[in-house]
Order: sequence, then C-alpha cells, then structure tokens
Amino acid sequence: MKKFLLGQLLLFLATALRAQPGRIWQEEWTVSATDCGKEFTFRLPAGCRAWTLRRLDGQWDSSLWMLQPGTWQKLQADPHGPEQFAQSELVFTGGQASLHLIFSNPGQYHWYGIDPGEAEHAKALVNPMPDGIVPQSVWRAGLAAPKPNPVSTPTRHAIVHHSAGSTFDTNYTAVVRSYYLLHTEVNGWDDIGYNYLIARDGSIFAGRDPQSSAGVAQDNVRGAHFCGKNDYTMGICVIGDFTSQAPAAAALSSLCDLLSWKFEKDGLDPLGTQAHPTPTDAALSRLAGHRDGCNTACPGNLLYSELFNLRQCVSRRQPLSATETALPAGWILESHGDHFRLLSSDPQPTVMEIYDTGGRLMRRANGTAVIETGALPSGLWYARICRGALCSPLKLYVP
Ligand SMILES: [Zn+2]
Repeated sequence: MKKFLLGQLLLFLATALRAQPGRIWQEEWTVSATDCGKEFTFRLPAGCRAWTLRRLDGQWDSSLWMLQPGTWQKLQADPHGPEQFAQSELVFTGGQASLHLIFSNPGQYHWYGIDPGEAEHAKALVNPMPDGIVPQSVWRAGLAAPKPNPVSTPTRHAIVHHSAGSTFDTNYTAVVRSYYLLHTEVNGWDDIGYNYLIARDGSIFAGRDPQSSAGVAQDNVRGAHFCGKNDYTMGICVIGDFTSQAPAAAALSSLCDLLSWKFEKDGLDPLGTQAHPTPTDAALSRLAGHRDGCNTACPGNLLYSELFNLRQCVSRRQPLSATETALPAGWILESHGDHFRLLSSDPQPTVMEIYDTGGRLMRRANGTAVIETGALPSGLWYARICRGALCSPLKLYVP
C-alpha cells in the first residue's frame, strides 16, 4: 500500500442523498408552408425525458407525424390539455437523443421538454431500511392527530433511550399508543417524543410523524427526547426498563439494523464523536445514550453498557465510503505496510487506541510528535485518536 493512500481513502466524505429538482425547457417554432411535408429534426436537451407540443391557434393538426423508434405514427392531441390551446399528448423520449416530426400545416408552436429530476439519487445502500416499520398512521388509528408542521433537522447523533417504568405489557401497539397520549395530552408536546420505538420482540415503530405534506423524513423529524437540545439528533426508544434487566437480543438486533441503515445513509461514523451543545459533553459519541447528554439514568445501565457493542455492530456493517473521518489539521497518518505512524505537529500529548473488530482494546500508544502503532496482523482495525477531548476515529487496513 502506498504511503498516504490510506489517508486519502479516509478523507472521502460520504454525500447525503438529495432529491434532484426537475426542469422545463420551452422552444418556439414557426412552421411555414415550405416546411410542411419535410422531416423536421430537433436535438433533445440532455435530461429531457418527455415532451409536449402546443399549437397556439387552438386547432390541433391531426396529421402531424412523429418518428417513434423505427415507425412513423400520428401525434395525438391530449384530451386533458388546457382549453385555449391544442396540445399533444405527453411523449416519453425513451432515451432517444432527438425527435423527428413531419408537419402538414403551417402555424405557431410551443415545444415543452420535461426533465422530471429524481426523487432520490439511485444509490444502493449496503444496509437498506429495515422492513416492516409500523407507520404512525397504523398504530395511532383512532387517536387525535399530532400538531402540524414538524421541523426537520439533520442528524449528527443518534440517541438511545429506554422507556423505563414497568412496561411489561406485550401489546406493543398499546404501549406505543400510551406513550403517544402521555407525550401529547399529558406533557403537551406536539407528538410522540422519539423518531422510532423498538419493542422487545424487535418490532420497530415509526415515532414522531414527519407528516408527508411537510416534506420531512421520519429519521429527520426533530423530536423531544434529549435534554432540551433536540436539534441534530434522532431519538430511538427501546421499550422496557434496563436498570437491572438486560435488553432482548431481538430488540438489540433491530437497533443495529436501524442504525446501520441510518449511519450509512447519512455517512456518519458510529465510532466517531461530534460536539453537541449539551451542558455535559463537548464531544458526544455519534451513537450515544440519553445520559451522555444530561443527568438521567436513561437508557438504564444494561442497555447503556450495550452501546459499545452496538457501535461495533454498526461500524462493521458500514462500507468504507461511509467513513467520515478527517484527521484534524496538523495530524498526518503514514501507512508502512503492517504498521502506522501518526505525526502530530501539536505539542499536546496524543493518545492512539487500537481495537479489533470485536471492539477489544488491542493497543494503546501515546506520545507528542510521533506515535507508532507497532506491527499489526493483516486485516481491519479500528483506531481512536484523541488529543484532549477531541477524538477522531479511523479505520486501519493492514494488507
Ligand atoms: Zn431517555
């Protein structure tokens, strides 16, 4: 492996999936008597997927021909078009680069090309959204709707909660409905507090309603769950009290599924940290528990102690391109085959910890200017490099 190649790979920033807006083109054509009967060719703009032709005098030219792949056929009028114009049906280009027409009558025409854009970039995720998430419209049926106008917030942190209390009820729909009524009717919140809730049997319930009309996504609705600082967070509540009881394997498995999808989709590193404006933590883990933000026992000791394994679980499922790591300025990582050398221009001591893929700490090295990892067996390793409270996660590949 070449020197610095690793650093370049790790600096790759995953881009968020964004919808692409559409476009309309308009052309004005005057067809003279001498143009009639000849083949008229028009080069379609890139991205044009459909078009329509409008005749301005309101009389449709029913003898207008177009060349569809291989055959000439009549261009039909659109019976649903505006009344004052005669307009053709919408013709889909099917990937053709140009259109071919034969006019029989002179006249004024407007041509409109349509680029529909994309609802979402076609990018296949290694971790698809888990199947069967129960939407709010299903579990809330019969209860009053939440308040309108949910707010969208980009996710920097996923926050894990437990529901606490004696939630031994196994009718999980009834449990979620109860929390909905508690949050909206008793607490007076706009909606249920969390983005998702996970039951003991692994069922996932969509929480706060993104209300499709508002154009907000389920995982980006700003909820009410994290120390009064809900911006940039997504909240997941595991139903149960994990103060002295361990969470069920099925619930932890669904939690890893949901977070693996979310972290890949948003290009977040589950081993990473990021400042969040809570009173207690300037470098909050990307995947944190409620208690990391303020003084609470949530999500219970036995779920909180699972967060380390959960980060490893999510991290192991992330493709390389989802690694968001960028080394802070002044740090250089050199790859030397089976070992790595971290060079720091800062006089503060730097600590480098190396974990195996099971999350076990294998090495701890520190120094001020040069930190050597020592030889590592080939394979994938996770490193955490910290200077003061600033930590950066890295994936290390030993060929
Ligand atoms: Zn909580």
